[in-house]
Order: sequence, then structure tokens, then C-alpha cells
Amino acid sequence: MTLPPCPSSWCDIHRDRILTNISLALSLLPEGKRMCAVMKADAYGHGISQVVPLVMAHGIDCIGITSNEEARAVREAGFDGTLIRIRAATVSEIAEAQQHRVEEQVSSVEIAAYLAAEQPDTPAHLALNASGMSRDGLEIGSPEGRAECFEIIRLLGAQIVGITTHFPSNAPEDLRASDRLFQEQVRWVFSHSDLDRTRVTVHAGSSLTLISDVPVVGDMFRCGAIFYGILRQDAGFAPTMDLKSRVVSLQHYEAGQTVGYDRAHVLDAPRSIASISIGYANGITRVSQGRGEVLIGGQRAPIVGKISMNTITVDVTGLDVRVGQEVYLFGGRETAITTAQSEAQFGTIMAELYTDWGGRNLRIYR
Ligand SMILES: *Cc1c(COP(=O)(O)O)cnc(C)c1O
Repeated sequence: MTLPPCPSSWCDIHRDRILTNISLALSLLPEGKRMCAVMKADAYGHGISQVVPLVMAHGIDCIGITSNEEARAVREAGFDGTLIRIRAATVSEIAEAQQHRVEEQVSSVEIAAYLAAEQPDTPAHLALNASGMSRDGLEIGSPEGRAECFEIIRLLGAQIVGITTHFPSNAPEDLRASDRLFQEQVRWVFSHSDLDRTRVTVHAGSSLTLISDVPVVGDMFRCGAIFYGILRQDAGFAPTMDLKSRVVSLQHYEAGQTVGYDRAHVLDAPRSIASISIGYANGITRVSQGRGEVLIGGQRAPIVGKISMNTITVDVTGLDVRVGQEVYLFGGRETAITTAQSEAQFGTIMAELYTDWGGRNLRIYR
């Protein structure tokens, strides 16, 4: 790929930090458990084809995806291991993904019947609602649910290679209760079927489960967020993406003049205003107006006025700033704009910011 020589805004992706985060995460894995690297949403906005080799370098042999496009990218990057879709899929999605050897989640008789009849070589993971995510798992707390579960097992038999659930909360008490219920249901499935426990991978738990002190049942964790330095920065995990742009204009305006649409910001004194070539089209959402700062040459400047489509204005009065200088909207090493600051500024979690920024800006790999 040839990069445009001067992008308006871009994400610097730090491969070295992803590698470090992966190895830190693996060191947290309890003895004997397996890691499934979750790479949905184009590897949390980082670019799946670039992250797959890093995961492979650490010997991770299981990857979780959601879309067929992600499955294709993972195989194209040379990954030959276990590839699991970690959500329910339609029959047409499942049929199309067969060429990429995707293991599918099953929580309905319809999908089980399809797989048994049309794709007997596709491994299946029985997805239970157990802990109450109520997203796509089968609820076997009711007689109807148990009957459906029997029918799925009858149809698929040894095609079932996994039993899975997803915890809605990792608060210790909640997680303990969820885990207990999932354990009970897993035991019920094994005691009411011919499934061989040694040939079935029981998996539940995400990054927050991995870093919690609560031990959970199962053979494998599925983790995404932790690879991108969102959690446990105190333990050495580092954010893996910087969001950057440039100063494209520097002007001086008098007291009383207004900045931006709707005259939302009024200058209380003569001020220097820098214009930065990034806006809501690049993920600097309009709700972040009036909050937040950028870093220019290590100096902090507040964002003022409304966010435009592809421009923001910052007050750089008294700072040493030049046109052409690089600007950090997020990240930067020493005086960094932190994950906590960005989450407060944009009113959401880093996972959403990463996927948004990564999808809306050029990505440059370091
Ligand atoms: C996203 C997801 C994960 C990984 O969650 P993180 O919090 O990013 O570690 C695991 N399992 C399922 C079903 C998911 O959707």
C-alpha cells in the first residue's frame, strides 16, 4: 500500500506494544487454560491482517471473529489454527464461511439441522445463555429450552466441540453467580448426552474475567480488549493506538469574537486559535464539544467551539505552535492524552473509540 504523503488525520498503531500486551495477557492465563484472541471489529480497529501475525508470533492457536470478512482476512494472513465465530450467524453467512473453516456457534434447532445436513464437517459450539447475556445463547432454564438443547445435541452429536457462554458482568459477586450457573448447565449437558468432556472445549470469560480474582470454569478465555492496552495499565499494559492530525492554520483573534458554528465559543481576551484537520467525520464526535484537550509539541491546548465535519479549533494562546506541527488527539508517550481522559471527553469506552477511529482514519503501522 502506498500512503498518501500527507494524511489529514491518522492512527499510529504500535505493533511493539500489542506484542508486549499479548505476552502480559498470556502471563495472566491460569495454568492449563487456552487463549482465544478475539479480533472482531477489524481487531478493535487496529487492522486484522496486521494483528494476526502478532498473535501467531506468540503461539496463540485460537482466534475469535464475528464477520465473514474477518474470517477471510485471518486465513489470508496465514493463520491455520482454530477460528471460531463468537456470535450467532445466519445460514447464508455460515455457508459462505465454510471455505474459511469457521467453527460456528449453535443455539437453535434450525442452525443445528442445517449444519448436520449440509456441513457435517463444520465444528459447532453450543451457546448457552446461562449467565444471562440474553443476546444469542440458548436458555436451558426452561423445559422448552432443555428440549431444544436435546434436539440440538441429537442432531449434531460429536460435531459439538465446544460449550460456551458470555458473562454480562465481571463484578466479583455477579461473576461468581454466573460461573456457578454456567458450571451447573455444562454439567447438565454432559450428564444428559454422550458428549465426551475430553473432546469438548468449555469456554467463557473475556479480558475483564481474566484480570478478575474470580476463578471461572472452563478450558479457554476469549480476550480482546486486553491486547490493546485498555485495561491494567498499572501492570504494564500500554495503549496501542495514537490518534493524530496536524495544525493547518494559526490565527490571532480579538476579544469578543466568536469561534465556530452557532458562535458557541466567545473569546474573553485576544487569543491564538489553531485549526486542526480532524473532525466528526474522523471520530471526534460532536458530543465531545467543550470537553477535552489536544497535545501539540507536548503542550496541552483546550478544544474550543463546536466540532466541524473535518476541523476542530483549539486555543493555543501563549503556546509555541507552528503550522504543520503534529497534534495528538489521543495517546502520545509522556504527557499523553490518557484513556481515562478520552473516555470522559467522548462519554464512551475505549473499545468504541478504537473501533471508530481505526475505521475512520488512515492507519500507519509502527
Ligand atoms: C467481545 C467478546 C469477547 C472479548 O471481550 P473483551 O472484553 O474485549 O476481552 C469475548 N467473547 C465474546 C462473545 C465477545 O463478544
